[in-house]
Amino acid sequence: MSARVIEGKPIAASLREKLRVRIDALKAKGVVPGLAVVLVGEDPASISYVTGKGRASEELGMHSEEHRLPDLITQSELLALVEKLNGDPRIHGILVQLPLPPQINPERVIVAISPEKDADGIHPMSLGNIMLGRPTFLPCTPNGILKMLTESGVEIPGSHVVIVGRSTIVGKPLANMLIQRGAEANATVTVCHTSTRDLAAHTRTADILVAAAGRPELIRGDMVKPGATVIDVGVNRVADSSRKRGYRLVGDVAFDEVSEVAGVITPVPGGVGPMTITMLMYNTVAAAERSAAAAGAAS
Ligand code: NAD
Repeated sequence: MSARVIEGKPIAASLREKLRVRIDALKAKGVVPGLAVVLVGEDPASISYVTGKGRASEELGMHSEEHRLPDLITQSELLALVEKLNGDPRIHGILVQLPLPPQINPERVIVAISPEKDADGIHPMSLGNIMLGRPTFLPCTPNGILKMLTESGVEIPGSHVVIVGRSTIVGKPLANMLIQRGAEANATVTVCHTSTRDLAAHTRTADILVAAAGRPELIRGDMVKPGATVIDVGVNRVADSSRKRGYRLVGDVAFDEVSEVAGVITPVPGGVGPMTITMLMYNTVAAAERSAAAAGAAS
């Protein structure tokens, strides 16, 4: 059996076309959605993510700002920039690219971002709202995963979803989103992590398996239930001298092997990645709409 491959790019493209309509409607009211992306240091992967995010927002006709700061910047200098962006009316969404250098406490920075501008959906206020099932900014990768599943016809309600990874940006919020009531949720969820005993015993019970561990090809064919949907979040650089850049990108799933067992699978690259960026645009546009509505109500 060979699994159906869900490509992220066409789904992301169709969601971006819907966003374009909303952006045009905002522009007709004199509001241009604005995204500020802050990058500290020279981490090559972070530079590539930040460049992709800036390009995507410009392609949609949004206002985009990139703030590149030196690796040795102090925490208070970074917090001062966040504060400035919080007060800038042209900016509706702020993203501080993680990881940050060791002298900076990422939690201090995230909590400093105005919850109204939390385009990344990782402020404690957004995460708390998710747990309570209230409308809020949803973290980009988990939201992208849910959109990918629903847009490609994978039934979530009633399914057993096993998530491998408990990070604050993927595993934990995704688990909380999936256990809410609703058409894109209502799942039964198991979260596995580094202290899970017999990982394969859990993954084999998944109708939908989400691999977000950051371990190249951790999920093998014999760890997957026949016909299951497998979402590969992992992006791992593996040394490869045959490539010009000296590495290739590999997911957390052994793609060829798992494709023979799964019913549906996402590739790396070109799967979850394009969805994550689109959801960042989605949150920024939603923030701009809220800000425009609040300004309209106040006038
Ligand atoms: P993280 O390192 O913060 O968390 C990884 C989690 O996996 C941890 O909770 C850990 O307990 C668990 N884990 C690690 N090894 C394990 C093992 N052998 N068995 C069971 N659990 C294990 O990582 P993250 O930020 O959540 O990212 C995970 C992966 O997803 C990375 O490869 C990252 O690059 C990728 N990622 C991709 C996107 C995207 O848009 N495509 C977005 C975010 C993260």
